Amino acid sequence: MNLSDDELERYARHIVLPQFGGPGQQRLKAARVIVIGAGGIGSGAIPALAGAGIGRLTIVDDDAVDRSNLQRQTIFRDADVGEAKAHHAARFAAGLNTHVEAVPVRERVNPGNAAALLNGHDLVLDGSDNFATRLAVSDACVKLGIPLVSAAAIKFQGQVGFFRGQPCFRCFVGDAFDSDECDNCAELGVLGALTGTVGSFAALVAIRAIAGLGDDAGKLHLFDAAALAWRAISLPPDPGCRACGAPAQSG
Ligand SMILES: [Zn+2]
Repeated sequence: MNLSDDELERYARHIVLPQFGGPGQQRLKAARVIVIGAGGIGSGAIPALAGAGIGRLTIVDDDAVDRSNLQRQTIFRDADVGEAKAHHAARFAAGLNTHVEAVPVRERVNPGNAAALLNGHDLVLDGSDNFATRLAVSDACVKLGIPLVSAAAIKFQGQVGFFRGQPCFRCFVGDAFDSDECDNCAELGVLGALTGTVGSFAALVAIRAIAGLGDDAGKLHLFDAAALAWRAISLPPDPGCRACGAPAQSG
């Protein structure tokens, strides 16, 4: 996959990096990434992915822009309030980088449609705001063999996990969160700049994986915005996990 003169100029600061170079840029260009949720995490991740030159960026969100989103969802403007997030986010990505094919999907991910939505992508970045969606996305990623960057932020805490095969996101959180009735930031609050930090970090994990800069699978990165500190832990696989564990006996 060759790079045009415009792309060579645009990505010059990538290409000059010895560990990245033209081959790293070509991998980004060939990559099809799907971002679940064009909210606070998406607002950090989408500009980073689009600017970096991910070839195809699918953006899934069923929601409309609310005025209370603008404190942290900085890809939207005042004038976008009431309009579809997926379309505005895709327009933002394409406006930032004409080499990105940005595809908006105004749907809510559930166990019934997750596999069809994710199929055909090389990496999933999940920045959705509830566990039911996260688990549906994770289970579909395990089934389809697609690596997953799962990112979340609430109050002063952020987390970014990278999953490929075992362990999966369900190994980490268990089966108790399959319902919609879970904590979300509408009730608990979230610091504005935190979501952008976590979303941008999630994009970095994705870009590292796609460009072959490092394998972070099975690691969970935790950010404490109150203490201003990151730490990383390794997640153990759950042998009994109903998504990635040993297949159940038939019969
Ligand atoms: Zn699992």
